Amino acid sequence: MTESAAAPPSLPALTDLPVDGFSVLTSLPGARPFHAASVRRWLYARGATTVDAMTDLPKDFRAALAASYRLRSTKLALVRDSDDGTKKLLIELADGLTIESVLIPEAERTTLCMSTQVGCGVRCAFCASGMLGVVRNLTPGEMVEQFLWARETLAREQRELTNVVVMGGGEPLNNFEHLKVALETINHKDGLGFGARRITVSTIGIPSKIDRMEELGKQVNLAVSLHAPNEELRGRLIPGLDRVPLSDVLAAARRYFDRTGREITFEYVVLKDVNDRPEHARELVRLLRGMRGKVNLIPWNPVGDLPFQRPEREAVDTFAMILDEGGIKSTVRRPRGRDIDAACGQLRRRYPTGEALRNRGE
Ligand code: SAH
Repeated sequence: MTESAAAPPSLPALTDLPVDGFSVLTSLPGARPFHAASVRRWLYARGATTVDAMTDLPKDFRAALAASYRLRSTKLALVRDSDDGTKKLLIELADGLTIESVLIPEAERTTLCMSTQVGCGVRCAFCASGMLGVVRNLTPGEMVEQFLWARETLAREQRELTNVVVMGGGEPLNNFEHLKVALETINHKDGLGFGARRITVSTIGIPSKIDRMEELGKQVNLAVSLHAPNEELRGRLIPGLDRVPLSDVLAAARRYFDRTGREITFEYVVLKDVNDRPEHARELVRLLRGMRGKVNLIPWNPVGDLPFQRPEREAVDTFAMILDEGGIKSTVRRPRGRDIDAACGQLRRRYPTGEALRNRGE
């Protein structure tokens, strides 16, 4: 290999620092104690993308900072606009892999759907993210930067983020420690200052981790992916999940509600003839009786050649009606951004690396 082909040593990214860990910067040449907070303010409150933009910092300190750190480690590689206003962000990581974030505008809110891993280890039978397994966890900065790119993409249209759902690629609770650091930065007043009540973490349901969820912010909302009203069907749809009894998942969700008072959302991807029959709805009513929460029915978004079908509209309506009669609140998620591959993991499937994106059409 020639010398020029060797990759330059990559500098650590400032976004990977815990929000209360910026004091390490004060050991750089030319630094004064208050510079740690100044840099953090430039990075998060003012969204600086270069050290040179930090104009009120002394030159020698700026030079030392630029020699030791990158501000961000990711690049916004592609933004796809859907006819319905949904935007899909393809983000290229320092190692060339890609992840997706989705921006979903609605009447009263604009939601960022954030990824936590490259790929996913849970391997739900109907989901694109898990098809190739988990490649790696995202770093805290790679999650924080999704927020930054989203904020900047929206700012160009004078819009602001109102909600964050941790529902993109990956299983968030399998990347708990990094997620914790990232959500601290997103939530903290010295970070991005985004309210924990407006953040939802969606999980396949790992009881020991649900029991630690307050560490992610006391008012974070919990969404649990159920997809089936009984053990046998759930096991078939989520084969990669270590045998966690459904009753343990529900018990952990109930404890979370008891401790936090935050109502739980149960997600249920609706698959034609697989879990969309009236008897499934009746079984779900029995399963969730006495739980404080609501069911979010998500008609399946087709993914490549996976052997499932979208449910009929009437089947979803009947399902919701049976839940309603059983005293269980539900909402039906409208499909969004289907013209831009917005179903989880589809854009990434097309462009798994930045290289693949640059070679498109060749
Ligand atoms: N690992 C987390 C986050 C996954 S994405 C979890 O399992 O909750 C958020 C939701 O989208 C999950 O409920 C997931 O099952 C669902 N989902 C995945 N692929 C889908 C598809 N093709 N169509 C509709 N929903 C899908």
